[in-house]
Amino acid sequence: MKTCIYCGLEKHDSDFSDEHIWPDALGGDYLSPLWRTDDVCVDCNSMSGVFVDGSFIKSWLGTAERSTGAREYLSPTNAGIGVLPLDYIGPLTEAPTCEGEIAEYWCGPCGANIIHIRPNDSDEHWESYAGGDPRAKKSKAGRAYIALTSDEPFWIMVSLASFKAHFKRAERFVVNMDVPPQWHNFFKNPDTDNSVQVGDMKVVNMVTSAGRKGEYIKSRAVIQVDVGTRFLAKLGLAIGYKILGQLFLGTDYAKNLRKGFREADSAKRRSIPIRGTGFLNEQRFSGVEKLLSWPGGWVLLVKVVNQLLFLSVVSPSGKTMTVLVCDQPELVMGLDASYQDGLAWVTVPSLGEAVGPVPLPSYLAHQTNVSPPISELAALAAKRINPAILPPCRAGDGS
Ligand SMILES: [Zn+2]
Repeated sequence: MKTCIYCGLEKHDSDFSDEHIWPDALGGDYLSPLWRTDDVCVDCNSMSGVFVDGSFIKSWLGTAERSTGAREYLSPTNAGIGVLPLDYIGPLTEAPTCEGEIAEYWCGPCGANIIHIRPNDSDEHWESYAGGDPRAKKSKAGRAYIALTSDEPFWIMVSLASFKAHFKRAERFVVNMDVPPQWHNFFKNPDTDNSVQVGDMKVVNMVTSAGRKGEYIKSRAVIQVDVGTRFLAKLGLAIGYKILGQLFLGTDYAKNLRKGFREADSAKRRSIPIRGTGFLNEQRFSGVEKLLSWPGGWVLLVKVVNQLLFLSVVSPSGKTMTVLVCDQPELVMGLDASYQDGLAWVTVPSLGEAVGPVPLPSYLAHQTNVSPPISELAALAAKRINPAILPPCRAGDGS
């Protein structure tokens, strides 16, 4: 028997599973063991994956961050390994879809138009989730259509690979290129004898013809004002436990973090005294965030400030969100000097690599070139390319 750090319940050892404190989809798999725990029960792990990590990762902001900088890790010579996260534009409000269906608009590499038509969720909870309820059955995964915008073989490969990786369960159609027979397991051309697909093509044509005419398409993405706050409470609770141990869980503040993580109602969550700044009311460190951020990567910082322990997350675009992890000086001051100076981790999901912990002062010195580079960070940086060396989106021109 052991106690779950997320719900506080005592359960059998067999009821526990490996929890990525920092989510897999954001590169959690590549971080050092500090960012994993097996003291979270299966129920909390799956609840957290869908409702806490998922509501951040699948938010409009989360999808935008995931695609930021990802191009800088493509291989110019091997399009086959290139998968880019898609940009979420939002549901199309004037799409001629069937009753009970919704059409969502995504943007792929080189501006490829992607339309995903699927059953509408009956529960409005999923409105702020790109792609809707992540637990929906395969039969409700819908149909996804891509209109390629590039005639360059490199970008056709990257576009189709990204499209396939994103829509793993939906039926996938390519609308403006004949799909070669060897790819028929992955993609099809729409069937003009299939009434459903003919109906879908009206939606696709609405988008592509608006694009050709330079017209706007009406879409409506739902953005939660407190995006990331529940996720931050979870990160604070889990990393506090990993760094400070069992004593931390007994503090009043840790109990607040647990409440903040478990409370689904955002109005109620606001009354829980958790100190931090979410994604939309981010802190501005007067330009320092540019030094902290890593192109296409997420930077995690743990640092003692005024005898309090803080965690900050710097997104690929340089947005910062921070949560107070522990407010008990007697616990915090027992930590070794590395936490007093601060530690940094960098994870680059599109590369499948992470570095850290690196002392924060060394990280900043590396970023400002004031001291010899840290070899691990230099090696990570060396894998970045200048996107200008990639083939142009249109064969034969420089655009
Ligand atoms: Zn639990």
